[in-house]
Amino acid sequence: MHHYDPSSEIQDYLVFGEYGDVNPSITDSSTYTFLNPQTMNELFEQEIEGCFLYSRHWNPTNKYLADALSKLEDSEAAIVTSSGMGAISCVVLQLCNSGDEIVSSRTIYGGTYALFKNFLPKFGIKVKFVNTQDLSAVKKAITKKTKLIYCESVSNPLLEVADIPRLSEIANSNGIKLVVDNTFSPIIISPIRLGAHIVVHSLTKFINGTSDCVAGCVCSTKEFISQLTDINSGASMLLGPVLDSFRAASIMKNLHSLHIRIKKHSENALYLAENFHKLGCKVFYPGLKSHKGHKLLKKIMNKGFGYGGMLAIDAGTTEQANKVMENMQHEKVGYLAVSLGYFKTLFSSPGHSTSSEIPEEERKAMGLSDGLVRISIGLDNDIKRTFKRIKKCFIQAGLCK
Ligand SMILES: *Cc1c(COP(=O)(O)O)cnc(C)c1O
Repeated sequence: MHHYDPSSEIQDYLVFGEYGDVNPSITDSSTYTFLNPQTMNELFEQEIEGCFLYSRHWNPTNKYLADALSKLEDSEAAIVTSSGMGAISCVVLQLCNSGDEIVSSRTIYGGTYALFKNFLPKFGIKVKFVNTQDLSAVKKAITKKTKLIYCESVSNPLLEVADIPRLSEIANSNGIKLVVDNTFSPIIISPIRLGAHIVVHSLTKFINGTSDCVAGCVCSTKEFISQLTDINSGASMLLGPVLDSFRAASIMKNLHSLHIRIKKHSENALYLAENFHKLGCKVFYPGLKSHKGHKLLKKIMNKGFGYGGMLAIDAGTTEQANKVMENMQHEKVGYLAVSLGYFKTLFSSPGHSTSSEIPEEERKAMGLSDGLVRISIGLDNDIKRTFKRIKKCFIQAGLCK
C-alpha cells in the first residue's frame, strides 16, 4: 500500500487521437449518429463500449479524463462533472431518498456544508454533523436511516487527517457508504485503496492546477458510476452538471504533471511550515511532528509526494490576519484569493461558515481562531526568498519579531 504510485498508473494510461495524435482528439459534438435505429435503442437500455448517444450522458473526451482519474484513485470507474459541488450533490442525491440521513464531518468545505445544512433538508434529507476524528461519535450518530458517512481526507482549515481505514470499517459494519472528498490531497492519499467507497474531487484545485476552470469528478465502482449516469434515474444524467469537452481535454493535460506539482507544493509548504514554527508562529501543517494528524498521515499516505501544499497559520485576531494577508499580497508572496492548488500562492481567511457547528469552547481548544489564515503554497523556485518576504509581513503585523 505504501509504495503505490498513482502517477505511474496515469502514465501507463495511453490514449491517442484519430490520426495517432499524442493528445486524444477533442470531441466537439453534443450528439452522435447511429448506423441503425436498433443500436440507438440498445444504448437506451444499456451502455455499449465505445458507443455514445448524447454529450450530457457521456462524450469521448470526458470519458478519457474520467478513465485517467479512475487510474489516479485506483477505482473501477469515474465520471467528470462541471464542478466539485456538482460531483458532491450528485453523489448524495443518488444515495439518499427523502427521510434518509447523512453523518458528516463538521469541518468540511463551506459549499458542502451549506448544501448539507441548508439545501438537503428541502428534500427531507437530514445531516448530522459530528467530529469524525472521534470514531465513537461517528458510530453513535448512525441510525437505521443513515446512508453514508461523509468526510474530507484532509480537512479545511486545520488540515485534520481522516482515519479512512477505520471510518470504512464503521461504514461496512453498518452496510453504508463512506464518501471521501480528496480535493486537498490528490496522489498523496488514495482513499479507495484505504476502504472508501466513493471519492469526490474538485478538479478546480490541485488536479487542474491553473485556476482557469471549475470541474469535478466522482470515482467509485462500475456499479455506482452506472447508477449516476443511468438515463432514467441517474443524478449526473438528470441533474445535468456536464463538463465541457474542451475543458476535459485541458484538465487531462494538466493531470499528467500533477505528481511533479504536488512534490513541489509539498516541499515548499514543509520548508515554510518548519520555518514559521521556528519563528514561534502557530502553524498547522500535517508534515510537522507537532500536528495531530502527522502520524496517521504518515501511515496512510503514498510515499514520495510529501504532506501536501496547504498550511494554516494563526495570526491571532481578524485584524492581524487581514494585515498579514494585505502585506503578503503587497510583497508579491501571492494573491489574496479563495481556492487552492494554483501555481502561485493563494491565501484567505476561512471564516466561520465551515465550523459553526462547533461550540465556541471547543473551537478554541481545536485552534480554530478568528485569526486563521489558510495558505495554498505555490510552486516558487526560490522558497527561501518567499520565506523572507512572508517573515517581513509577519513582523509588520506583529506576529513575530
Ligand atoms: C473547492 C472545493 C469544493 C467545491 O468544488 P468546486 O469545483 O468549487 O465546485 C469541494 N470540496 C473541497 C474540499 C474544495 O476545496
